[in-house]
Amino acid sequence: MSKDIYVFIEQRDNKLEKVGIELLGKARELADDLGQEVVGMLIGENVKEEAEVLFRHGADKVIVVEDPRLKEYLSEDYADMVYGIIEKYEPEIVLFGATSIGRDLAPNLAARVHTGLTADCTKLEIDPESKLLMMTRPAFGGNLMATIVCEDFRPQMATVRPGVMPSIEVEKTDGEVIEDKFEFSHKEPVVRLKEVLKIESSKKDITEANILISGGRGMGGPEGFDTLNGLAKELGAEIASSRAAVDSGWIEKSQQVGQTGKTVRPELYLALGISGAIQHLAGMEDSDLIIAVNKDDGAPIFDVADLGVVGDLNAIVPKLEELVRKERELSEQL
Ligand SMILES: Cc1cc2nc3c(=O)[nH]c(=O)nc-3n(C[C@H](O)[C@H](O)[C@H](O)COP(=O)(O)OP(=O)(O)OC[C@H]3O[C@@H](n4cnc5c(N)ncnc54)[C@H](O)[C@@H]3O)c2cc1C
Repeated sequence: MSKDIYVFIEQRDNKLEKVGIELLGKARELADDLGQEVVGMLIGENVKEEAEVLFRHGADKVIVVEDPRLKEYLSEDYADMVYGIIEKYEPEIVLFGATSIGRDLAPNLAARVHTGLTADCTKLEIDPESKLLMMTRPAFGGNLMATIVCEDFRPQMATVRPGVMPSIEVEKTDGEVIEDKFEFSHKEPVVRLKEVLKIESSKKDITEANILISGGRGMGGPEGFDTLNGLAKELGAEIASSRAAVDSGWIEKSQQVGQTGKTVRPELYLALGISGAIQHLAGMEDSDLIIAVNKDDGAPIFDVADLGVVGDLNAIVPKLEELVRKERELSEQL
């Protein structure tokens, strides 16, 4: 009989990725609805000590699989280990982050186990009657939300967008650690890793920022974004953007918010010259406070904004910077 919610905990260089922690929070909620447990799957080399972090964020148990061959992510080897876990423990639900690793691993496993997989979910719920997992994801460019269920096969599997599920902290700091080992399907790894190259970006991760100043096509060009640096400095904010600005080559793709960019939920999202297309809103509408500046009073961004300013951002941004500076200077004098 399958039971419990299993979460693949992604790590790189033995540092846990945020998405795994977020998923534990969601898994906790789903497990409580089902009266089942949350199990973290921690795979790598010397990763066991991270188990404690998982307990603090909602896991009841952690299955640790360690091997020097698992130091870096390799499709086949990791899939062998997760497959081993699924075969042995028969989970009801298995969740992965929709990262490049999760998107590689999950379909490989779904095919091997012969079960259903829903990719890139933004909402997960247990149907109160059928107790099935309802997996919701945007489809057709975000114009349609599809809710998908996997009735007959187990486990029910989903990859989930990073940044969508809020992580939780619980008081519990320990739980059961199960150390396990599974056979690799090949004596030698089929794919060998030659080198991992890290691209150093000068930009900070926009998903980590408390305040985001986001510019769209209304910024008019790359120099428009340059004018935001002063305000960003005053506010301690990072700069983000819509896809239109990325496609125009005004700003790096790593700064893009939205369905095909990143999902953010900062304390303040300042949307400047962004119309508020549904694909953009999908990545930012859960921000605590949204302030929009747009010269078109009919722009859909105003539907989600807590505060809307109709006007030309070229006039408003310098004013705003000046006001914020004055405010800061005043508070420093006190
Ligand atoms: C499959 C798919 C995936 C997509 N994924 C994403 C995604 O991840 N993120 C994303 O952002 N988009 C995404 N898009 C694109 C999306 O549909 C929109 O085209 C895009 O968000 C528009 O960007 P924008 O709001 O900056 O530009 P526009 O829609 O062109 O809006 C510019 C706005 O600026 C205002 N403006 C102009 N000048 C000024 C001024 N001087 N002062 C004040 N306001 C001014 C205008 O009134 C207008 O509202 C996707 C589209 C598809 C089909």
